[in-house]
Amino acid sequence: MVTGLKLIGKKYMSLKNKVQEYLNPEYVYIPLVVGNDTNISVFVKKGDYVYKGSILGKKQGNFSIPILSSVSGTIIDFQEKYYLNGKKIKCIIIQNDFKELTENKINIKDDMNKFSKKDFIERLKDNGIIGMGGAGFPTYAKYDTDKTIKTLLVNAVECEPYITADYSLILEHAEQILECINTILKINKIKECYIAIKKNNSKLINTFNLYIGTYPNIKICEVKNIYPMGWEKNVVKEVLKKDYDKLPIEVGTIVNNVSTIYAIYEALKNNQPLIDRIITITGEGLQKPINIKVKIGTLVSEIIERFNKYKDNKDLLFVAGGPMMGTTIPTDDLVVTPNLNCVLVIPKPKISPSIECLRCGKCVKFCPAKLAPVLIKDNCNNIDILKTYEVNRCIECGLCSYICPSKINVREYVRLAKQNIGKVDK
Ligand code: SF4
Ligand code: SF4
Repeated sequence: MVTGLKLIGKKYMSLKNKVQEYLNPEYVYIPLVVGNDTNISVFVKKGDYVYKGSILGKKQGNFSIPILSSVSGTIIDFQEKYYLNGKKIKCIIIQNDFKELTENKINIKDDMNKFSKKDFIERLKDNGIIGMGGAGFPTYAKYDTDKTIKTLLVNAVECEPYITADYSLILEHAEQILECINTILKINKIKECYIAIKKNNSKLINTFNLYIGTYPNIKICEVKNIYPMGWEKNVVKEVLKKDYDKLPIEVGTIVNNVSTIYAIYEALKNNQPLIDRIITITGEGLQKPINIKVKIGTLVSEIIERFNKYKDNKDLLFVAGGPMMGTTIPTDDLVVTPNLNCVLVIPKPKISPSIECLRCGKCVKFCPAKLAPVLIKDNCNNIDILKTYEVNRCIECGLCSYICPSKINVREYVRLAKQNIGKVDK
């Protein structure tokens, strides 16, 4: 049985306003990274003219995928900006000429059903489709398998507090999402699809139900309103009653985030690369929490300045992602990437000094990865002991820190342990 905690949602904050659009920034900053991989070959230089969708660089090694321009314009420089993992990453700065010129045939309607599996995989790859739920893994690689895919599981759980980007997308595009799922099933000869949605999201369930009647192989599966229900292993367990070790394909399943499905729709139907996304920008530090559709490479500081406005620009905490899994960023100088679903701006919490570990075992009890966070914390610099704790199974969900009565930031110790193990593994 999947266990977790019911958290206070605060999702209403960003749902008070209509989804906004900001698709014409003067500059975009395209980071040279895919997921956490910065092994990128760069194909452009200062002064080059690029089109919307032009290839700027390519991730090397396994699961190669292009990095694409989100505007047409001129490359004016390279500069480091904050990325969602809290590190500064080199970005290509493009000055937008606002002409939206394209090299390829973007926006020419395609018959989605004509695609062979090979064409489908190429289309996803060429259009830079990566997982939009956080990890940023190239999506085509999941489908490029010899194993039989029995089930497509669409993850629309969005279980972290504050985040409503997927929610807003579904309200606007449920019909296209279902059409795309149906096409994916046909192309890949997949028998069934389940869309996992939290059972309290009746508005989304009703929206899908308006169109789902024509798709007998697609079913809505209502899941528990607990955190971290959206973790891939939890969704597979809850919906399919199956466990796997490393990847869902071990149990014949592919899991895609619902925003990724919509990006696949745009790629198949309109040959549209992944150059924009809906992002939630919210929190008690802002006058106007919103969901907004923006170009990849837009600066978060610029969006906030134009659309959200700070309530008080002193002592704010910026988090890339949600409050549980997100990463604290020192400033708002952060770029929007396909895998950034939320930026949270809250007043800096008063840090009450952590007290001694009570050895209460709560962090062990609630860890969804079945780790012993307290022991990892105690031994975070002892590589020999860490090797026996399987620290890389940690999904950084933050529950151990959340639940700790001594207010110890246990997750940070576990992150440190992962880094220490990573250095030895290299
Ligand atoms: S150790 Fe990792 S997976 Fe376990 S509760 Fe802490 S952050 Fe979550
Ligand atoms: S929850 Fe906190 S106090 Fe309890 S064992 Fe874990 S680290 Fe110690």
